[in-house]
Amino acid sequence: MSLSEFPKRYNFKEIESKWQKTWENKHLYYFDRKDKQKPTYTIDTPPPYPSGELHVGNALNFTYIDFVARYKRMRGFNVLFPQGWDCHGLPTEVRVEKQTGKKKSEFDPEDFLRLCREYTLKWIEPMRIALKALGCSIDWSTEYRTMDPEYWRKTQLSFIELYRKGLIYRGEHPVNWCPRCETAIAEAEVEYVEVNRPLYYFKFGVEDGSWITIASTRPELLAACVGVAVNPEDERYKNIVGKKAIVPLYNYKVPIIADNDVDPEFGTGAVMICTFGDKTDVKWRAKYKLPLRIIINEKGLMTSKAGKELIGLSAAQARKKIVSILKEKGYLVKVESVRSSVGTCWRCHTPIEIIPRKQWFLKTIKLANKVLEEAKKIKWIPSYSRKRLEDWVNSLDWDWVISRQRLFATPIPVYYCKDCGNVIVAEPDWLPIDPRKDRPKIEKCPKCGSRNLVGETDVLDTWMDSSITAAVHAGWPDKMDERLFPADLQPNGYDIIRTWDYYLIVRGIALFGKTQFKTALINGMVRGTDGRMMHKSYGNYISLLEVLEKYGADVFRLWVATAAATGSDVRFSWEGLDYSKRFLTKLWNASRFIYMVIKDYIPREVNYKDLKILDKWIYSLSQRLVDEVTRDLENFDFMNAANKIIDFTWHKLCDHYLEAIKYRVSGNNNAKDKEYALYTLYKVLLNVITLLSVFVPHISEEIFKKIYKKYERIDSITIREWPKPESFNEEDIERGNVIVSVIAELRREKHDLRIPLNAPLQSIIIYSPVKYVELLNEGKNDISGTLRAKEVLIMSKYGEGRIVENYNEIKIKIVQ
Ligand SMILES: [Zn+2]
Ligand SMILES: [Zn+2]
Repeated sequence: MSLSEFPKRYNFKEIESKWQKTWENKHLYYFDRKDKQKPTYTIDTPPPYPSGELHVGNALNFTYIDFVARYKRMRGFNVLFPQGWDCHGLPTEVRVEKQTGKKKSEFDPEDFLRLCREYTLKWIEPMRIALKALGCSIDWSTEYRTMDPEYWRKTQLSFIELYRKGLIYRGEHPVNWCPRCETAIAEAEVEYVEVNRPLYYFKFGVEDGSWITIASTRPELLAACVGVAVNPEDERYKNIVGKKAIVPLYNYKVPIIADNDVDPEFGTGAVMICTFGDKTDVKWRAKYKLPLRIIINEKGLMTSKAGKELIGLSAAQARKKIVSILKEKGYLVKVESVRSSVGTCWRCHTPIEIIPRKQWFLKTIKLANKVLEEAKKIKWIPSYSRKRLEDWVNSLDWDWVISRQRLFATPIPVYYCKDCGNVIVAEPDWLPIDPRKDRPKIEKCPKCGSRNLVGETDVLDTWMDSSITAAVHAGWPDKMDERLFPADLQPNGYDIIRTWDYYLIVRGIALFGKTQFKTALINGMVRGTDGRMMHKSYGNYISLLEVLEKYGADVFRLWVATAAATGSDVRFSWEGLDYSKRFLTKLWNASRFIYMVIKDYIPREVNYKDLKILDKWIYSLSQRLVDEVTRDLENFDFMNAANKIIDFTWHKLCDHYLEAIKYRVSGNNNAKDKEYALYTLYKVLLNVITLLSVFVPHISEEIFKKIYKKYERIDSITIREWPKPESFNEEDIERGNVIVSVIAELRREKHDLRIPLNAPLQSIIIYSPVKYVELLNEGKNDISGTLRAKEVLIMSKYGEGRIVENYNEIKIKIVQ
C-alpha cells in the first residue's frame, strides 16, 4: 500500500455515491424475513407525499429514522426500514390541472386519473434519488405506492372489515366543507386562522313587543337562523328566555334559548343559532332539536332560501348586501372589529362552510377514550408530545368523515340499489375494485332483486390509505408477521401528531384492537436562517439538493444530529454545516495520519495493563464514550451522542493523544512503546468510526476500508457489531488528565515564548505537590517527547512558574 491510497483531500462527491451504490447492490440493508433468530426492529416509515422534491423537513425526519435504523442494525436487530409513497390527494389533482392548463371537469375522468398517476411517478423519482443521496439505509425491495391496485385492495379491505364491525356508517351529518375544492374535509384538515373582522350588532323583535340586539360576524346567515341564545345567568335577558324572537327582514319566529355555552361578555351576550355558522350551532341544533335551514350550497353560494336579494352571491358578497339592507331598514345598531378565528381549508385556505351532506364516517368519537388509553402505552420522544395528541383527541366532537368528493383517491368499495336504496358493500374477493367504472360482482340487489345497481362515486380520504401502513409493513392482510406488529418506531414531525399519529392509533384500535406502534419519535420543524418556518413564499427556503451538492450527505446528517435536541425545531444554518464539515476534515486528516503510522502494523491483542499511561487514558476514555453514546442512542438523544463523539475525537484524540504519541511512533523508539501506541490507535479509531457510522456512514466506511478492511472480517463498518462498553478505569482517565494538562500548558508556554513547537528545548521544570510526583515521572517521556525537551525535572517543592489549568498546584517552567 502506498500513501497515495489515502488521499489528502476527502472527495465526498465520489465517495458518497460509491458507497450508496455498493450498499444497495450488496442488499446490505435488506430485511431478512426468513431470519427467525435475530430480534426484529420495525420502522413505520411515513410514506412521503410525491411532491417532486424532498425538502429539508422531510430530510430531517428521514435522517432521524436512519440514525435509529443504523444503530439498531448494529445492535443485532433484523431491521425493517420500508419505503412507500402516499400518492393520492388533492394537491396532485390541483397540480395536474395547473400543468395541463385544464380543469378536472374538462377531462374524461379516466384520462385525468391516468395523468395523476403519470405525474406522481414522475414526482417520486427525484425524491427517491434524494433519499438515496442522503444515505438512508432503506430496504428498497419493500417500495410501494398507495395508488397501486395492490394497495387499493388493502385500503378497501380495511374499509370492509370496519364496516362489518359496525365502525363505519353512512349518514347525513354536517361536515366541514371547502366550497372551492367542493369536498368534505376532516377536522384535521381545517386550519384555524386568527383574523380581525367586523362584528355586526342588529335588532331582533321579540313577540312581547320588546327588542333584543344580537351580535354576529356572519349576518348573511340571517335566513338560516333557527334560534337566539343567551346565558341563563345573564340578568339582562332573564325575562325573555322561552319567548320567541322575530328574525328581521325574513319575519319568522325562532325560540330564545338559555345555554351555558353563551359567553355573556361577547357582543351583547345574545347570539344567533344558524344552520350552520360554526360547530356550536351544530351542537345546539341537535340539543334543542331545532329545524334545518340550509341557505349555502356546495359551491359556497347563497341559495334561493336566502331570498332573492342574495341568491347566487358568495358569502362575502351576501354579507355586504345584507348589512346595507339592515342599515337601510333601521335594524343595524353598530359595527365593531373583533379578533376571532376562522376555519379554512388546509389546501386552498378558503374559509370553510359547515353543510350537511351524505357522507361516510368512521366512529372515532366512541373510540376516543381507547385512543387516550393506548396513547399512554406508547413511548413518546420527547415525552411532552403525548400532550399534543391528548389535546387533539379531547377537542374532537365529530366522527371522522372518510369520504371525499374527489377523483384521485382510493374508491369506496360500495354499490347502491337504485330501486330499494340497499347499500351493497363489496366482498373481500372483489377487491381491488373501482365502483365508478367496474360493475359489481353480483347481478341483482340481494334485497329486492333489482338490476339497477350504481357504484359509489365518492372516494376515500387519503389518510384512510396511510393510516394502515404499520400493518401493511408487517404483511397484513395476507402474511401478517406478528413479530413486526405493532411497529417498534413511528417517526414523524410534531405538525402531524393530530393526523398521522392519531389516525394510526384510531385505525389500529378499530381494526386490530391496539395501537400500531410502540414508540413515537417526534421531530421538530426546520426553520429558515431567519428563524421563521421555512417556506418558499418567505424567501428563506433552502433546497436539500443544494445542501447535498455543496456539502454532501454526511455533513448534513451530522448537522441534523447536532443542531437541536430531538423534537425541537432546527434553525437552518450554513455555519452549522461548516462546523460539521470542519470536524469531518479533522477526522479525515487524523485518520490519514493514523493510516501512515499503522499501515505496516499487524494488529494483535495487547494486555490493557501493559499500556502506557496515555494509552490507558485514551483507551478508557473511548470506552466511556461507547458507554455514554449507547445510552444516548437508546434514548434517541442524537444531539448528545454526536456531540460527545465529536468532542472526544477532536479534543481528546486529535488535540492531545495524537500529539503526545508522535514521538513514540516515529524514529527509532522503544519497540514496545511504539507497539502499544499503534495498538491503541488501531482500537480507538475503529471505535470512533463504528460509533460515527450511525451519523456519517460514508466517511466512516471509507476510513474503514482504507485502514481496517483487511483485518476485520466484515463487509461494512455499518453492519459491524455495536461495541460493548468494556469496563473502563476512571482512575486511569484521571491520571492521564494530569499528564495531558501539563503537556497542554507547556505547549501554550512554548507558544507564548515564541518558540516554534517543533524546536528542541533545553529543559522543563515542573513544581508539583508530592501526590503527583510519581505520576509525573511515569509521564515524563511523553512530556519530553512531545515538547522535544532534553530533560524534564520534576521537583516536589514550591517554585515560581506557570500554573497548569485545572491543576493549580502544579507549575511549569521552560528553561532555554
Ligand atoms: Zn379547499
Ligand atoms: Zn334493491
